[in-house]
Amino acid sequence: MPDKVQRVKGVNDILPAEVRQWQALETIIQNVMAGYAYGEIRPPIFEKTDLFARGVGEDTDIVSKEMYTFSDMGGLSLTLRPELTAGVVRSYIQNNLQQVSPVQKLWYEGPMFRQERPQKGRYRQFWQLGAEAIGSPNPEQDVEIIDLFYALLRELGIEKSVTLKINSVGDSESRAAYRSALRDYLMPQLNKLSETSRNRFESNPLRILDSKAPNDREIIKNAPKIRDCLNESSAAHYEEVLAMLDKMVIPYFQDDLLVRGLDYYTHTIFEFTSDALGAQDAICGGGRYNDLVKELGGSDVPAIGWASGIERLLLVVDAIKPLSTDPVLDLFLVVTGSDLRTETPGIIRNWRSAGLSCDADTLRRSMKAQMREANRQGARYVAILGEDEFSQGVVQLKNFESGKQTTVAIEKVAEVIIKDA
Ligand code: ATP
Ligand code: MG
Repeated sequence: MPDKVQRVKGVNDILPAEVRQWQALETIIQNVMAGYAYGEIRPPIFEKTDLFARGVGEDTDIVSKEMYTFSDMGGLSLTLRPELTAGVVRSYIQNNLQQVSPVQKLWYEGPMFRQERPQKGRYRQFWQLGAEAIGSPNPEQDVEIIDLFYALLRELGIEKSVTLKINSVGDSESRAAYRSALRDYLMPQLNKLSETSRNRFESNPLRILDSKAPNDREIIKNAPKIRDCLNESSAAHYEEVLAMLDKMVIPYFQDDLLVRGLDYYTHTIFEFTSDALGAQDAICGGGRYNDLVKELGGSDVPAIGWASGIERLLLVVDAIKPLSTDPVLDLFLVVTGSDLRTETPGIIRNWRSAGLSCDADTLRRSMKAQMREANRQGARYVAILGEDEFSQGVVQLKNFESGKQTTVAIEKVAEVIIKDA
């Protein structure tokens, strides 16, 4: 026997029953996005490696160790997208979206790829939902995009199981001041830090705050706070964001140690976490990235965005308030009498085009087996068609829920069922 081919480690098959949950979520997402006037964008799944090296940052975990990078036949280095902010910004610049409107509000959903150690809530192919608002530097834009994700949580009925953590990393002047304050604090204890953190001391000391190593966490606890290093305009921006969140009664927690793993953030950064999840508790992360458009060759345009892991979002939804999905099948046609086999495809085709979801047996099974199949599929109705019925142009229509059975003309079946819904 040939070996069974197994799927690659860390990726998932999303099977039909699950896809129905995803689609229920996607319907809610589409409604929320339309309500906030965000337009969907679908950039490619792979880009030139250079885009991520420049856009995400060479020093990040993503670029330094998680990317799926390969050469195409022309020797060009390509990478499966590990995130989509860089791709959206590349697309924004390349398609001159700035000319379309001064503020571009975009959302996306699709698979991302990162070579990480697979575990619950952490996969090598996973899906992200994301939103980016490109064009406005003002706090009201920060608040709108945070409120956008909060609105989605509310629609899903899970907002109470989720915590919003927020911080500001300020503008580049504030970050420079903080980097030096942080280095001064860490310098005397450098040898006690983990190797990863020691390596980051020169290149990117802010990332040390992100360390999960217990020893590092002890040291970090008493580190100076970035909040105390914000210059006047950065502090004012942050205060305004918080004041507006208060006004909108969006609960948040100021997390002085929050830094996000990507290099491009400025000012407001935030994360939504859920205690319904285990170690991988972040369901959404985002922040302002005022320099990225310029750094990728566009004009000096500020932006802010977030990305959320759909698998993790669904884990929370399943734990708190599972999405209900509609029954799949309206009608199953049960045929007795083998002479009718040639008639049935045309009959169900007509019901289908009248708007019903219908199925019928193609294995030439017994009536009993057909009834069982109808049941298994959760059909709302069965239509029983025998030689007698066919000669009169009718079926016996049985409502599975009420058990009621009536004789209905074949061409009236769709009408009767639709009226009954
Ligand atoms: P984490 O701290 O879990 O590694 P991250 O900071 O790398 O997250 P982002 O790059 O901000 O995550 O991505 C945004 C969201 O995408 C995360 O909050 C999470 O919900 C989801 N996500 C990230 N990596 C994975 C993964 N490997 N598998 C599943 N979901 C993921
Ligand atoms: Mg990560």
